[in-house]
Amino acid sequence: MAARTMIYGTDYHIHTTYSDGREGPEACIEAAVKKGLREIGFSDHLNPAGEHLKWCMDHNRLPEYAEHIMKLKAKHPEIAVRMGIEVDYLPNRENETRRLINSFPFDYIIGSVHYMGEETVDLGPEFYIGKDLDLIYENYFNLVCEAAATGFFDIIGHPDLVRIHRFIPDDDITHLYSMMASAFEIHDVAFELNTNGRNRPLNDFYPDRKYLSLFAEHGVPVCVNSDAHFPERIGQYFDEAYDLLRLAGYKEMAVFARRERYMIPGL
Ligand SMILES: [Zn+2]
Ligand SMILES: [Zn+2]
Repeated sequence: MAARTMIYGTDYHIHTTYSDGREGPEACIEAAVKKGLREIGFSDHLNPAGEHLKWCMDHNRLPEYAEHIMKLKAKHPEIAVRMGIEVDYLPNRENETRRLINSFPFDYIIGSVHYMGEETVDLGPEFYIGKDLDLIYENYFNLVCEAAATGFFDIIGHPDLVRIHRFIPDDDITHLYSMMASAFEIHDVAFELNTNGRNRPLNDFYPDRKYLSLFAEHGVPVCVNSDAHFPERIGQYFDEAYDLLRLAGYKEMAVFARRERYMIPGL
């Protein structure tokens, strides 16, 4: 279809060797250009508490990261290179978070909830076994709404990551998605349709495709992101994601530069 080639493709959720990605930024840019994307954004993991360095960037490396990405912006006129970061939302770490995100000229900040207390929701299914799933979901969605309310973040990452291991409450949880869509609308944050869930036990995107029209009705801006940890996954499943968004009523996508949001029509 001719219309498909017209889509202004962006992928703002990409991990490199600065955190837990397999390759450096150069290999990612090469892959993105091959995919025909118009913008690529880097978003390595940053934990405001400076913990979990196995998969998060050491704070001491931030200046090097920023300098590296800024150089690549100038070096690659064939694609717009954006400097983002994926920051863990940690309640009670507001000061560190504010300081970190204001210390470098980021184009956007992705805010993600990976932790509930000391535990990570995405590492393994153990987290869910024998627990009250209704309560886990309620707590997780509340944390995501809190993250949106901080004003620190431009994009909320994988808004229902708790689905990752397919532990999903039996009861209807539409009200949780309504609460989330309202919070995103009120606090003026975008969310991502994250295609990486397809590579995880969930085998589908985040958030649940059933609720995309709800986000559209609330006018919440959206980006399509791969959350790639390998260059070959950049832009993965994007045609399906665009179709889903169109079906849900979306007509435009959000892009970011120096923490300003712009809308690109033609989805
Ligand atoms: Zn994440
Ligand atoms: Zn990520």
